[in-house]
Amino acid sequence: MPENLMEKVVSLCKRRGLIFQSSDIYGGLSNTWDYGPYGIEIKNNLKRAWWKTNVYERNDIYGMDAAILMHPKVWEASGHVQNFFDLKSDCKSCKKRLKTADLKDKAKCPECGGQLTESRPFNLMFKTHQGPVEEAGSEIYMRPETAQGMFVNFINILDSRHPKLPFGLAQIGKAFRNEVTPGNFTFRTREFEQMEIEYFVKPSEADAKLEEWIEARYNWYLDFGLRKDNLRKRPHEKDELAHYAKACTDIEYNFPFGWSELEGIANRTDFDLKQHAQASGKDLQYFEDATKEKYYPYIIEPSGGVDRSVLAFLVDAYFEEMVKDDLRVVLKLHKDLAPTKVAVLPLLRNRPEIVEMAKKLAGDLKKSIITIYDDTGAIGKLYRRQDEVGTLYCITVDVQSLEDKQVTVRERDSMLQERIALDKVKDYLITKLS
Ligand SMILES: [Zn+2]
Repeated sequence: MPENLMEKVVSLCKRRGLIFQSSDIYGGLSNTWDYGPYGIEIKNNLKRAWWKTNVYERNDIYGMDAAILMHPKVWEASGHVQNFFDLKSDCKSCKKRLKTADLKDKAKCPECGGQLTESRPFNLMFKTHQGPVEEAGSEIYMRPETAQGMFVNFINILDSRHPKLPFGLAQIGKAFRNEVTPGNFTFRTREFEQMEIEYFVKPSEADAKLEEWIEARYNWYLDFGLRKDNLRKRPHEKDELAHYAKACTDIEYNFPFGWSELEGIANRTDFDLKQHAQASGKDLQYFEDATKEKYYPYIIEPSGGVDRSVLAFLVDAYFEEMVKDDLRVVLKLHKDLAPTKVAVLPLLRNRPEIVEMAKKLAGDLKKSIITIYDDTGAIGKLYRRQDEVGTLYCITVDVQSLEDKQVTVRERDSMLQERIALDKVKDYLITKLS
């Protein structure tokens, strides 16, 4: 791990347009981040990879996209109105609000030494108003998790798709939590994106399915390139389980700031369906044809953070190498996650025939491969820029290309170069990228 790895990744993200501070020109909105041109590509690639593995490559999972705003009764039934809060104290001098659990001295402000108020519960849900009038009845929450959108649609999926147990729902979307102590760049933010599966199973099969999901999700991170040394499974102690969970295992990544959760895989039992059945008055049980039994399924929930996964893949892929006395920074991202697959670079930008040939090649490749064209610097500089954002292949068009109709293809990690005929380049790249 390079020294100051976290600072280096944050600096790279800003310098090369991956991630910016939100509202930067106004001094920034703390703890809120915007994804730039390369960042959004990596984030989309990660979400696509997750969707492909969990929806397209399986027969038992249905994708969906629930609204962020939901009926206020959802959050009463789920326990969020009742249980989803932090105890906090306010400093009477500097007015800072602090999480009681983080305080060594419950009476004294760690920032200024001022006196603290008694600790009080603060709900973590963001509240807003629906409709034109701000009154008590119009209060509504921004969802603190995507999960509830899937629980309340359980019966809609049963009625429209008629799946047999076990089956699951998958969703990727934004969630909001008014955390007191967010931080570590994009790791913990108040607005964030989740990728969640709610997998409905027969209660007697829940323990085995939980183990299957822990393995499947752990292997997914390895398959897309995280190093095994940096990944671990951590079963929760009984006293850290959420109020609805019977068992939970976190998949943790060894971030520069310590081992931290990427994803939690929990056995939520029949808590959620029972709660919603009771609160809504609707029958949310499953009828098993074979045994004529009617029961509430248990739910196994693999719940991952999109933003923190992107961060883990960035940190893990960051390498510094000495190449002929020059420092090369390279993002060795998995090919499916790399934001750009190919960059076409003319060796001489003042030679119109070379520029024309390079632009034509780039235009042709763009139809099937994510390709960019760049002629804004000397070749050494252009290579370095592409390495920094993880571009897999650089293609150089040079003077000789005009004669022999061949171009140089350079691979990112090995930096090995090959001359390939112009009319074979596309097939060559498609084979390499598939
Ligand atoms: Zn203070």
